[in-house]
Amino acid sequence: MILDQIRIVMIQTTHPGNIGAVARAMKNMGLKDLCLVSPKRFPDPDADARSSGATDILQAAKVVETLDEALSDCHFVVGTSARGRHIPWPITSPREMAAIAASLQPNKRMAILFGREDRGLTNDELHRCHHHVHIPTNPDFSSLNVAAAVQVIAYELRVASLEHSISPPQWGTDWDIELADAKEVELMFEHLEKTLVQVDFLDPKNPRQLMTRLRRLFLRAIPDKVEINVMRGFLTAINKTAQSSPRQSQNQHPLNDKENSDV
Ligand code: SAH
Repeated sequence: MILDQIRIVMIQTTHPGNIGAVARAMKNMGLKDLCLVSPKRFPDPDADARSSGATDILQAAKVVETLDEALSDCHFVVGTSARGRHIPWPITSPREMAAIAASLQPNKRMAILFGREDRGLTNDELHRCHHHVHIPTNPDFSSLNVAAAVQVIAYELRVASLEHSISPPQWGTDWDIELADAKEVELMFEHLEKTLVQVDFLDPKNPRQLMTRLRRLFLRAIPDKVEINVMRGFLTAINKTAQSSPRQSQNQHPLNDKENSDV
């Protein structure tokens, strides 16, 4: 059940009324897990009033002092933001975020962070997140009330949870091309490894983590048969070119840089 895997984390919320409105939005959409990091005033009669009866969510809310405590048992962390920050970060739409939530393994938990009313999340808090989510608002007036933002996100999670329970995503049948099987993928990795050796990018006596990292990169993409064929063709072209051109100095190996010594 997706909804039980989601934790709404509100950071240093100023107005208890907003906490109540969040509890209401959560209960409307079937979310239960609310965590409050250093709220200014909580519990508070304004929170109860604005919750319109979602007091069970407020009573069960966990109040903690630090973000570390809020995230201690979470596997995937998403930060919500009304505006872009100076360092780009992987960004998803609320709908994509809900699809990621729907694909979480059953025992994994996703935390969604909501910032202060006046200044949102700090850069440090945003840098704790795997992804950032922006609700596509009017760019000239992009900042939603925090409870309204929770409502939108919670709605997307609810829709995803309903769709997920009807028909789980079917890799390889919904996709236009059949997924490559494990053997095809392994053969591509063997070809890639040989090619990297051929062009002196990979030193077989000191391979370090290069292939592990490249495996992770390619496997994250869940490649299909055509994509694997394209890779094989590309590698064959490199093999032919490398065979017919004279060897360059081995010292050009980028992993010989001190900076990359942990690769
Ligand atoms: N002035 C602040 C906005 C704070 S709004 C700023 O510029 O960052 C309070 C919180 O509501 C934000 O931290 C975020 O969690 C959420 N929020 C508001 N508008 C949002 C939007 N368009 N997309 C995603 N989250 C939003």
